[in-house]
Amino acid sequence: MSQNDALFERAQKTIPGGVNSPVRAFRQVGGTPRFVTRAQGPYFWDADNKQYIDLIMSWGPMIVGHAHPEVVEAVKKAAETSFSYGAPTEGEIELAERICQLMPSIEQVRMVSSGTEAAMSALRLARGYTGRDLIIKFEGCYHGHADSLLVKAGSGLLTFADSTQNAPSSGGVPQDLVKHTLVLPYNDVAAFEEVFKKQGDQIAAVILEPIAGNMNLIQPSGEFLSVIRNLTSKYGSVLIYDEVMTGFRVALGGAQSLQGVIPDLTCLGKVMGGGMPMAAFGGKKEIMSKLAPLGNVYQAGTLSGNPVAVAAGLKTLEIVSREGFYECLGEQTQKLMQGLKQAANKVNLPFAVDSVGGMFGFYFADQVPTSYEAVTKTNIEAFKKFFHLMLDEGVYLAPSAYEAGFTSIAHTNEVIDAIISAAEKSFQKLK
Ligand SMILES: *Cc1c(COP(=O)(O)O)cnc(C)c1O
Repeated sequence: MSQNDALFERAQKTIPGGVNSPVRAFRQVGGTPRFVTRAQGPYFWDADNKQYIDLIMSWGPMIVGHAHPEVVEAVKKAAETSFSYGAPTEGEIELAERICQLMPSIEQVRMVSSGTEAAMSALRLARGYTGRDLIIKFEGCYHGHADSLLVKAGSGLLTFADSTQNAPSSGGVPQDLVKHTLVLPYNDVAAFEEVFKKQGDQIAAVILEPIAGNMNLIQPSGEFLSVIRNLTSKYGSVLIYDEVMTGFRVALGGAQSLQGVIPDLTCLGKVMGGGMPMAAFGGKKEIMSKLAPLGNVYQAGTLSGNPVAVAAGLKTLEIVSREGFYECLGEQTQKLMQGLKQAANKVNLPFAVDSVGGMFGFYFADQVPTSYEAVTKTNIEAFKKFFHLMLDEGVYLAPSAYEAGFTSIAHTNEVIDAIISAAEKSFQKLK
């Protein structure tokens, strides 16, 4: 028995499913999850001491590579002065200032500990600000696991749920709660216009991933984004961009800096904590000032703005701000995608690719999908086989066809070439 098998067996006795977050359990692809013992740069090692090239990077945060020496140093220094005070620190101001500077749509920002909290709190704020209840989300987008957002949600919910029309995608969520959540297809301009014409003046907020990464990678059309911006402005609804995944990953200024549409509120997480539990939401001062202690919308957290997490976040943001970071990251990621596509073409497999900055998607399909429905029609069986073939070759992909992939600045030419040659072998076998 391998060490991974032994650990998985042991884990399942005291942890439901053996994991602390569902998609880690390999349920879509089958097999035993790898238990990680250490990681460095683009690599991690499992309990059997096998080395993998990591293409998840903790689902996005580790954009400067695992255990980057400068981040490790910053964390060590912060830890020596205790881990948490429950009182404000100057580091929080520095991080807030940095975020506002990098994302000009954010005038004020509140720090929390997870993306779930960021999206949940942003929605509460939008409801408090507008005095309305209804929210719109899009099919296949994931905004964390707050109750009212677990309707046709992406990520692990796509992997696990038996999502029947209009029902919550999770048990334990009252129908009464999800009735305030309208779910529309991503990139469907007509459906969005129709809902706004009927009840635009009742809609508190529209929340979306401006580049969707929880149903594989799906990009929005320019028209889709501009119609959303125009109608939310016209009807006084709050436009919330959930950039927990895309913020500081697709570009220094997030997806909003690439697309030119300015949201009212933005949710951040993942990269901004550099791998520590850290997230945030922010935006227009007029809206943010409704938050407690200034306003009547309550939001709080014992560990919010945690000084060790702030240190990791600040250092990570400093590194990604250096000259040429995203150009290099984007080029490497594109090179990887082109290499995978060429390898698949050699054996005549239908295969399409997309990437933005350090985030990528590949699809066993003739073309890049533009909606959740289109992703479900890609060849999931081929993906499952490819996943295991790559794993054997020492390349760790997301264990679900409904997830985007992530690179880091540590994925150098040499690493990219190694992934492509693993893919060539895997595609040969798959054929
Ligand atoms: C990961 C993610 C979240 C949830 O963040 P957690 O830190 O896992 O709670 C929310 N929204 C998006 C777009 C995400 O990718």
